[in-house]
Amino acid sequence: MSIEDANRTKYNNADEIAVWAFFADGKSSKDTDTSVILGTAYRNTSFVINEQTFQVLSDSLFEPNRSLLETTVITHEFGHILGLTNLGAALQSNHEDAEHPKHYIEKTCLMY
Ligand SMILES: [Zn+2]
Repeated sequence: MSIEDANRTKYNNADEIAVWAFFADGKSSKDTDTSVILGTAYRNTSFVINEQTFQVLSDSLFEPNRSLLETTVITHEFGHILGLTNLGAALQSNHEDAEHPKHYIEKTCLMY
């Protein structure tokens, strides 16, 4: 967040939303031996993409295409910024995953 505070120039106003997307040359400090975090939305219009993790996990044999993986995660983080799941936009049905709050319970959903 200190990098954002020092560099962000655009913020929401009455007619426009401004989004801060930061591609970090690194990985999440919350990564473990069994799980990694590809991206994180925070504040109301900010997200970070942990680019080092994408480079480890994509574009090699038996790994997903990097552009497709990045596009999927960026779209997921935009979903959080827009209030999904139960993150500002009220649930229209009971589909939040109790084990993974703010995410959809259905595996085929972008917000899973
Ligand atoms: Zn998420």
